[in-house]
Amino acid sequence: MQHPQLSQPCWWLILRDFNDEPYFGKNLKENHNLAYSSSKVLPRVLEMRRRRYFYGLCLTVIFALAIFVTLVADISSRDSAPATAESVASWSQSSFPLEGFTRYTSPFGYRQHPRGGGRRFHYGLDLAAPYGSYIRNWWKGTVVVAEDKGACGSHLTIKSGAWTAVYCHMKGNVVVEADGSRAFVDKEGGILIRVGDTVETGQRIGRVGMTGSTTGPHLHWGLKYDGVWIDPALVLKAGADAMG
Ligand SMILES: [Zn+2]
Repeated sequence: MQHPQLSQPCWWLILRDFNDEPYFGKNLKENHNLAYSSSKVLPRVLEMRRRRYFYGLCLTVIFALAIFVTLVADISSRDSAPATAESVASWSQSSFPLEGFTRYTSPFGYRQHPRGGGRRFHYGLDLAAPYGSYIRNWWKGTVVVAEDKGACGSHLTIKSGAWTAVYCHMKGNVVVEADGSRAFVDKEGGILIRVGDTVETGQRIGRVGMTGSTTGPHLHWGLKYDGVWIDPALVLKAGADAMG
């Protein structure tokens, strides 16, 4: 009786047996009956089962190898792509959004609302700084919203590619000009920014105030990527890490 030889490559065994083995591709029920009615055939069927087990093992190994090779190819192509170096460099091009920063006062995530509103999700990071400290634009972008009402108070929303950043509780207010354009004005701070303006990385865009719903002077900084709120602390950490 022939046994599968482990020293032979399994793909060769599979090819050979699919070609030669009379039990493959035939009526399984017939084979079954034949197997148990004839003592001559039984050993052969047991051998078949052993082989099938072996085929299963071979196919699993081949499949696992294929996945492994694909992953390795993918990782090595990523390593060689210039995009990796570029993305590392680009994090260091961001600006910390606040001058005179003293401490983080409230993280992103669930928290007890400071004004007794129960447990709520906090969609941003609170950075405390003395009243009137300058706020700097995190990343070059376009001003898409200037508003001075609501819980966020006087605020700007700036879009930078897939990123959208919101800066809340600032000093100043919005002026609607004769041509209908909206301007964010903090005269004392020397700030005049219109919706549609391009703002540079690190540009002063406002000052820490107490507008909207706030218990103390701080910048509430919210960040979205592709429309999804993310933790700004992670972005600040990436920026800090990139600068070494
Ligand atoms: Zn906040």
